[in-house]
This record gives sequence, C-alpha cells and structure tokens, in this order.
Amino acid sequence: MAAQRVAEDVAKGTKQTARVRVAVRLRPYMHMQDQKGEGACVRRLDTETLEIINWRNATETLQYQFDVFHGEETTQQEVFLSSVKPILPHLLKGQNASVFAYGPTGAGKTHTMLGSQEQPGVIPRAVRGVFNLVKAKEREHEGWDYSIDMSYLEIYNEKVLDLLSPSAQDLPIREDKDRNILIPGLTHTPLSSFSDFHSHFIPASLNRTTASTKLNQRSSRSHAILLIKVVRTQRNPPHRQQTGKLYLVDLAGSEDNRRTGNKGIRLKESGAINLSLFTLSKVVDSLNAGGGGRVPYRDSKLTRLLQDSLGGSSHSVMITNIAPEYTYYFETFTALNFAAKSKQIVNKPFVRETVTVSSVQVKRSREEQEAGRSGEP
Ligand code: ADP
Ligand code: MG
Repeated sequence: MAAQRVAEDVAKGTKQTARVRVAVRLRPYMHMQDQKGEGACVRRLDTETLEIINWRNATETLQYQFDVFHGEETTQQEVFLSSVKPILPHLLKGQNASVFAYGPTGAGKTHTMLGSQEQPGVIPRAVRGVFNLVKAKEREHEGWDYSIDMSYLEIYNEKVLDLLSPSAQDLPIREDKDRNILIPGLTHTPLSSFSDFHSHFIPASLNRTTASTKLNQRSSRSHAILLIKVVRTQRNPPHRQQTGKLYLVDLAGSEDNRRTGNKGIRLKESGAINLSLFTLSKVVDSLNAGGGGRVPYRDSKLTRLLQDSLGGSSHSVMITNIAPEYTYYFETFTALNFAAKSKQIVNKPFVRETVTVSSVQVKRSREEQEAGRSGEP
C-alpha cells in the first residue's frame, strides 16, 4: 500500500519529500550544570540559526542553520505548533508520521516530548490534537467512522519490550504484504478520549522515567516509543479502511555516539554503542542526502520498526535538544553536526550574555546537587 501510494504520489507530482525536518531546541541555561560559572557557549541568532564558540579557535564562532531553531525562551506550545501540529491531519488520511527527540541526556528530550503537568509537552498535545481532529471530522458527516488506539514500547539493548503489559519478552517486528510494519503480540489499547489516554499512559511512563536520569541509567539508554494509531472505516460499501500511525519517540541519549566531523563516524571503543540510535542517524542522513540510495532501515530494531513511518510518503520531524553549558560542549557539537543543514565559520569573538554567578550561588547549587545525589538509591 505504502509503495503504491508513493507511486501514485509521484505520478500526480505530489510526492512528499522524504526529508526529515530538523528542528533544534536549546534549553535554558542552568546554574546547576555550570559550576565553574562559565556561562553559555551557545546562543540563538535567528529562527533558523545559532552560534557556538569554536573551541579550536576562540576568535571564531560556528554558525549552524536548521529548518527551525527554537531558542531557550521557546514555549512548549510554540514547539508543538511549529513542529508537530501541522503533521497531525495526515494521520486521518491514512498516512504515517514520526516525531523524535534527539540529543544528549540532560538536554531536554523528555521535557520536550512528555513535559510536566504545568508544561505539557509534544505527547499530550499531539494526542489531544488527534482527538480534536477526529471529533471535527465526525461532525462533518463524511461517512467515515474513526477509532484511535495506543501502544507503548521500549527498545532497550535491541530488544522490543511492551510497556503496557511489561514482560521481558523481546517482541518480533514483521512486515505484511503491503509493506506495513507490525508487531504481533504488542498491546493495542483502544482510546475513547484524552482522559482515557492519560489514565493508560501516565502510569506506564512514570514507571520508566522516575529513575534518576544519571548517565548510563536505563532511561537514558533506551528509546521510549508511543504509537497512536488512527483507523478510519467507510460506513457504506465497499467499507474501505485506512490506518494512520503516529510514532512519538523519546530517544536514548546521543552521548553514546562519538562522531568525527560531519560524515565520518567513529564508534566509541569502550562501552556499548546504541545500535538503534547509530542506525537512525545513518537513515536520517541518507534520507536527507536524497539521491535514492539504500536506506539502512533493516540494520537496527528502531529503524526497522519505523520503516513505514520515516521517509517515503510519511511526515517526520526530529527535534534535536541541546544544552547551553560548557559541560555539554562536545555533545552539543556532535549533535549539531548531525542536525545541521549548513555550517559556517565566522571570525568574531563570541559575545557572551553576561552571567554573573556569585560564589555563594555556586556553593548553594553544589550543595543542592549533593543533597540530590545523596537521595539516590
Ligand atoms: P533529557 O530527557 O534529554 O535527559 P530532560 O528533559 O530530563 O532531559 O531535561 C533535563 C532537565 O532540564 C529537567 O530538569 C528539565 O525539566 C529541564 N528542562 C529541559 N528543557 C527545558 C526547557 N525548555 N525549559 C525548562 N526546563 C527544561
Ligand atoms: Mg529523558
């Protein structure tokens, strides 16, 4: 079906670009992450561009351009409106979509995807958005019935695990004759309202995220994948049926990857590389380079699972989260080289927004951190 649809789209000259749209979001500066009081090393220039200090040469900055750049003041609502809301209507027409949060641990992936009660993120906003679109369609009486269901899974050590009915069983990924990807045995929970979603999803997600987000914790090494499926069925013969899938993914921390420059990728010698994250970056590179070469979907579980929802005629957005403190410099740098459309070296010193941190503040934030640490199991 997907292949046929692409062929039809090409024939009509309406082929959706297979590109993955890349947005970058800079989280606000946090004193806790900057004990030396060095300030920020990244800042916004405009809605597509940021600059970062060049560590090789302090008289230079590097400017990076993306499809969208969200500065640190950007609200959850703005991220949703610009990067996610526009893709939702496609789900009601049987098309697939995926949204990922990429970036190092501590840079704001979970904040962006899940958020908090006060500042809900992409996931609750998108699910609410899908329900609103379906309600509006039903009011139009076009003769289709809609149903929505959810699945929630995790990829950890290349195992696919069901988060709605947890067990240690690694679920198989299959492809049907129409090239749809499916996971037999995965729980699909029908949803009748947003509050229904809330009551199923929140306990399952808390389960996964309450553990501390220290490096090497499971939550920073696994991919949490929420699948929202919209099925519409024609009320009258021939009772056509269409399915649209939306994947909302909080990826593993990108600090597991070590990249050199723009293209060359060198694996970290010690420690396990996250195969799915590594392959995802190759798939995105390959889609965004165009050229129609082989896209290595089959090389990892995550990309295999997303094969029918990433590239092709589907709608994909990657939100790369970065942090402004020097502690994150190298992680930020590698994440930017992956996400950038273009890069430019500019000969001028980085103009720092002055951050005055008194020694008292530094001491206090250290104490707070230590207090936090001693509270861990
Ligand atoms: P990650 O999931 O990438 O490890 P988190 O989402 O847990 O990172 O973010 C790390 C910390 O920074 C959390 O305390 C989070 O609330 C905070 N944070 C992240 N992004 C923002 C933001 N845009 N605004 C305010 N706080 C943020
Ligand atoms: Mg997280």
